[in-house]
Amino acid sequence: MNKQREKFYKIITYGCQMNERDSEKIAGMLENIGYNKTENLDDADIIFFNTCTVRKKAEQKVFGKVGSLKKLKEKNEDIIIGVGGCMMQIEETAEKLYQKLPHVDLILGTHNLHRLPVLVKKIARNRDRIIEIWDQQEGLIPDVPSRRSGDYKAWVSIIRGCNNFCSYCIVPYVRGREKSRPDEEIIQEIKELAGQGVKEVTLLGQNVNSYGHDLDQNINFSQLLKKIDKMTDLKRIRFMTSHPRDFSVDLIKTIKNSDSICEHLHLPLQAGSTPILKKMNRGYTAEQYRSIITSIRDEIPQAAITTDIIVGFPGEKEKHFQETLNLVQDIKFDMAFTFSYSRREGTPAADMKQQVPEDVKDRRLQELMKVQNEISLYKNQELVGKEVSVLVEGPSKNNPDKYSGRTRTRKQVIVPADENLAGKIVRAKIQKANSWTLYGELSSTQQDVYSSTG
Ligand code: SF4
Repeated sequence: MNKQREKFYKIITYGCQMNERDSEKIAGMLENIGYNKTENLDDADIIFFNTCTVRKKAEQKVFGKVGSLKKLKEKNEDIIIGVGGCMMQIEETAEKLYQKLPHVDLILGTHNLHRLPVLVKKIARNRDRIIEIWDQQEGLIPDVPSRRSGDYKAWVSIIRGCNNFCSYCIVPYVRGREKSRPDEEIIQEIKELAGQGVKEVTLLGQNVNSYGHDLDQNINFSQLLKKIDKMTDLKRIRFMTSHPRDFSVDLIKTIKNSDSICEHLHLPLQAGSTPILKKMNRGYTAEQYRSIITSIRDEIPQAAITTDIIVGFPGEKEKHFQETLNLVQDIKFDMAFTFSYSRREGTPAADMKQQVPEDVKDRRLQELMKVQNEISLYKNQELVGKEVSVLVEGPSKNNPDKYSGRTRTRKQVIVPADENLAGKIVRAKIQKANSWTLYGELSSTQQDVYSSTG
């Protein structure tokens, strides 16, 4: 009998959790048509790039990386090279890639990801080059198989796209307008995940707070959270990303009154100066942001708050930057992802006057990072001597012979290695801390302990 050779796929993912989640779907679809996962490019029959376009540099990186596969294609012309994700949703970029890199077989948009198996089969059969990009999602988002990358944690998309049009961001143009998934579908998916042993689910969307406004039924994000909390057996529920403009008091109460919704809020500030926030089209002032944080801390004092901040936005003067630094010092975020503004063609900010010179952006970024690192260290050291509950994930990448896990507040904790603990929730007493990591000793191996600390 003629036994068919095993076929392999390799996915290279750039960007945010939404892309990571899409890559799980790409993996699921490819496995469904007979491909197996490999980490080795030389073994792959399909190499798929799931791209991000939020930063200009990402584009150069992807062109470089895809370009470097030319030799591989010359050695093995049967290999299928595909590129998808947000970057391919920009017509000129997709066209440029198609023209410049003729060894690419498939270019796929974000709205028609579910077409991947059909197109791969077509290419394998006819050796056609295919470029297929839909402008928008047609009808309901089809249910596609996915291969989850973790055993105990999973991402679940609840809303795709964004209606906000922040002036620096390309997402609304490449991901389209907001489209919520029906709540029954989300709950069904989570029940299945919980049945498979998943303990923690992160609900994903560019702006989870606006969930439901486009559905026929009357449901908002807080109501969805309450339903998931009540109807599923999850130990931990997380969500990201929240938009300060749509953040509600009801949401704070919902988190406070639930055992399973984790006390961690990622709430992008972007700038601490109201005139800059206005130019960014963020829809809130620095004072309104400050008052949301006060409300969260009044109701949930143990909550960890993390954020994103951009320095060097067009028109940002020294005094505006100082306002951001002051706000960061006052609020004391547990952690901040800091960026220097990167001009993104196709967005209004790219054409704004008063672009800030690169050396000024670099200096401000360094200054901000220094301030934030000290705050992160202070916040983490406050936990030394305290007990936290940790979902143990598995071996630590950077600490041989140790395991790594996360607190409810999403802080990383390194604990003594014990393979029996993978996927369990344990209590650990924190012994030491740096700006990014906590180190603990196990104080109890009792499973599934809820804790108001950490
Ligand atoms: S909220 Fe603003 S930054 Fe976030 S995805 Fe939407 S447009 Fe982009």
